[in-house]
Amino acid sequence: MLPAGQLALNIPDTTKPRVVVVGGGFAAVNLIKNLPGGQFQVVLLSKINYHGFWPLLYQVATAGLESESVGEPLRQLFDDHADFHFRCVCATGLDPAARVVHTPIGDLPFDYLVLATGTKSNYFDNQEIAQNSFGLKDIGEAVRLRHQLLHSFEQASLARDPAERQRLLNFVIAGAGPTGVELAASLAEMRRHVLPQDYPDLDLGQLHIYLVEGEDRVLPPMSAYASRHAQQYLEKLGVIVKLKQLVESYDGQKVKLKDGEEIPARTLVWAAGVTGATLPGLPADRLEHGRYLVNAFNMVQGYQHVFALGDVALMKTKDYPKGHPQVAPPAMQQGTNLGQNLARQVRGEVWQPFAYLDKGTLAIAGKGRAVADLPGGLHLSGLPAWLTWLLVHIYYLSGFRNKLVVLANWSYRLFTDQRGTRVIVQNPTGPDGRPAPELDCGPAAS
Ligand SMILES: Cc1cc2nc3c(=O)[nH]c(=O)nc-3n(C[C@H](O)[C@H](O)[C@H](O)COP(=O)(O)OP(=O)(O)OC[C@H]3O[C@@H](n4cnc5c(N)ncnc54)[C@H](O)[C@@H]3O)c2cc1C
Repeated sequence: MLPAGQLALNIPDTTKPRVVVVGGGFAAVNLIKNLPGGQFQVVLLSKINYHGFWPLLYQVATAGLESESVGEPLRQLFDDHADFHFRCVCATGLDPAARVVHTPIGDLPFDYLVLATGTKSNYFDNQEIAQNSFGLKDIGEAVRLRHQLLHSFEQASLARDPAERQRLLNFVIAGAGPTGVELAASLAEMRRHVLPQDYPDLDLGQLHIYLVEGEDRVLPPMSAYASRHAQQYLEKLGVIVKLKQLVESYDGQKVKLKDGEEIPARTLVWAAGVTGATLPGLPADRLEHGRYLVNAFNMVQGYQHVFALGDVALMKTKDYPKGHPQVAPPAMQQGTNLGQNLARQVRGEVWQPFAYLDKGTLAIAGKGRAVADLPGGLHLSGLPAWLTWLLVHIYYLSGFRNKLVVLANWSYRLFTDQRGTRVIVQNPTGPDGRPAPELDCGPAAS
């Protein structure tokens, strides 16, 4: 790897207005797709080189999908967009007065800056939980969690001490939003269909999946109908749902809940909260709840050339006084609207304010089981909701090849109940950097 001093952004000079977009997620992708080609120089800065389809991450983590099938390289996505430049770098701050965005390898001047950096996990200042728990925010984290799950099963089958075996077979998920619910259900299905063949010697009755939620129901952002059905599905799958409970601490060995209960566990998945992935550089009063306050055109208040989109933007409207939900549809629609407004500007037309079209919310809780809150107060559950979930996710998944791979995996799973990606490609290491004891072949074998 080259040192930072030997790297530069290398963006060609231009006479066109330069639009710098930070983040390659749902908002950024839809923005760039709608910018008129050739009218702007578009520079996309992203710390990862792909557009990630986060709603399917839990399937990567539970060995249902190949990791690459939920990401599409950003260069490939825009290879036919004129005057488009991708740089795989992290933006570290901005200076709105000087109109530059900072990166570790240099500053980049902009005419328009679009912040579409999404969210990061919120550990509520608990460093211990941050260090010891597993997140599910990008493909790297999903693969790390998959390794942890698979390696826990392997170690449980080797453990001498029953208490240690139990610690390895207790899985705690903090947060029963869609991510927590979907992950818990998928792991429970693995216990039912995949693990009995793989680990005939393990007592899978000892494998416990705990789902811990602070509110009084699962899926708090969805309707009471959806929560009720999802909880029934989870309980049928044997997930232990703990409501009105908070994870207070976790040292890598035991999860301590607020009411004093302790669950010995080697795996805690943190799906209990997010906060905006904001950059330093704007006054503190332009932020609320870790999101940039924006007007109806996604302009950060007080800055005509700085925009924020998607999860990191907080647009208060009559219908959404606390901002839009932090899900993909508002991010996609805001990206589209800003792209179209910049195109309108080129044509000398008036900008249109953003208006959110709510197409509903879905969550899946195992094969044939899902819940859906649709516009007009319509609710679905069971097979109709599950089929809707499948169609919606395959439709919005980016990339034709990805759609094929995901469809192939889903078909395989539908007919066999098996999971195809149970390969541990990165062996776990201890704090000393050495492999786990059972995998340490010693110098003679290396
Ligand atoms: C596990 C999971 C499951 C989800 N399931 C659903 C679902 O079922 N349905 C649904 O509608 N929504 C779901 N969501 C939420 C949805 O994915 C988000 O609302 C959506 O991705 C927001 O889009 P965005 O463009 O604002 O941010 P993102 O899509 O998160 O994109 C932000 C991008 O910015 C990059 N970035 C961040 N900081 C920097 C920086 N400083 N410099 C450079 N790049 C940076 C990140 O790497 C990321 O690629 C889920 C999210 C997660 C994590």
